[in-house]
Amino acid sequence: MTNSGEPLHRTFVFDLDGVVYLSGEVVPGAGTTLTRLRDAGHQILFATNNSSRALASVEASIAQKTGFVPEPGSVITSGMAAANLLRGHDERCLVLGSTELEDTLRESGLEVTDDPVEATVLVVGLDRRLSYERLTSAVLAVNGGARFVATNTDPTFPTPQGKHPGGGAIVAAVERATGTSPIVCGKPFPPMRRMIESKIENEDVWMIGDRPDTDLALARAAGWKKVLVLTGVTGDGDPIPADLQPDHTIASIADLPALVARQSAVVGR
Ligand SMILES: [Mg+2]
Repeated sequence: MTNSGEPLHRTFVFDLDGVVYLSGEVVPGAGTTLTRLRDAGHQILFATNNSSRALASVEASIAQKTGFVPEPGSVITSGMAAANLLRGHDERCLVLGSTELEDTLRESGLEVTDDPVEATVLVVGLDRRLSYERLTSAVLAVNGGARFVATNTDPTFPTPQGKHPGGGAIVAAVERATGTSPIVCGKPFPPMRRMIESKIENEDVWMIGDRPDTDLALARAAGWKKVLVLTGVTGDGDPIPADLQPDHTIASIADLPALVARQSAVVGR
């Protein structure tokens, strides 16, 4: 209970890949955890650096996999953060990324072009259509003066098979070829952080993630509690930089309600 006798309501910000699901498979207990926390009055937000899918398909994926239906406006992707950053400017975007990232940009009123000469900004994310030709267009755009925006710089993402190359690996190719560094939109960088902060309703915020350099770094920058799960890219005993040490490490999202209950007991609320 708070001083006023009301239960303390927290905001939980969940990463998706490696936390709620791993590739196509739900992490066991994810749906139960999300439902229990929402039923207890807590706010649930989702923040993913995966820019390859549009908002509607991410929302549908959470609901299908976990049975938990996210509140409207509670899911933020790094593609949305990029669109939000560029919105309102008269930009023509060359996209080295998915068709759903192109849709995300178009829905924000931005123009998408295939022409590196015409492009005013290059937006790079995970591109499963990657080819030498597409990479060349991207490099020509930046060398021709287009701004270089990356949805995220995650080097990998977790799959049951092991780590697959992430958007950051493609960003690195453009960076190497152009000698230009991108503006990065996803966790832990300000465009994504500002979008999340604009939705937070409670003072006590917990970030639940599997990746120290994005999830825990965002939480550190924003002053939130850092909770690491071991279902994604970080394994038990993997080294974590001293400044990104989690406040709590749990085996999986299934253990979160018990952790929340223990913390509530510790602080008397
Ligand atoms: Mg993750």
